[in-house]
Amino acid sequence: MIEVHLGDITRLQVDVIVNAANTHLLGGGGVDGAIHRAAGPRLLEACRELGGCPVGEVRATPAFSIPVKRIYHAVGPVWRGGNLGEPELLASCYRHCLALARREHMSSIAFPAISCGVYDYPPEQAVEIAVEEVQQHLDRDCEPLRIVFCCFDEAMAELYRQQLDAYVRR
Ligand code: ADP
Repeated sequence: MIEVHLGDITRLQVDVIVNAANTHLLGGGGVDGAIHRAAGPRLLEACRELGGCPVGEVRATPAFSIPVKRIYHAVGPVWRGGNLGEPELLASCYRHCLALARREHMSSIAFPAISCGVYDYPPEQAVEIAVEEVQQHLDRDCEPLRIVFCCFDEAMAELYRQQLDAYVRR
């Protein structure tokens, strides 16, 4: 099941929220800042112990003061024109998060629009990759998993809705 939600990812009732982190995992602006503020200072301590994360991969922590089970810190690529492996690295973030959610027996996961803020990924292209990866995962895996695409603005939510419709119709 896939949903599009407009609002703050830290307020969602799901098992896992995904953070759009950076390679140092030491917090930043955007969704990363919002998650660290809501989770409290123990999140930064937990992240520090992880010692960073390469682009395209994910690391998990507890969620501390956010009432979800886990936070998955995914490091999306910075957009540099699209010929430096950005699409594959972005797809890899989604794949790693979905695989980890399965391994940890999570039943719901919410994604922000990874790389679409300060990392400057063109939203249409990022949304196409996000929808493709999630749909392929759900097509392959028969265990139910609730997936929420959490958007911070209506324009982004509309992109997800259009892309989900396009996927179903093809
Ligand atoms: P990145 O560095 O990967 O580009 P950003 O945090 O700058 O990550 O932005 C990623 C997306 O998250 C953007 O579309 C931004 O509008 C959105 N965003 C920012 N704050 C929140 C939040 N609290 N909940 C959900 N999405 C958010």
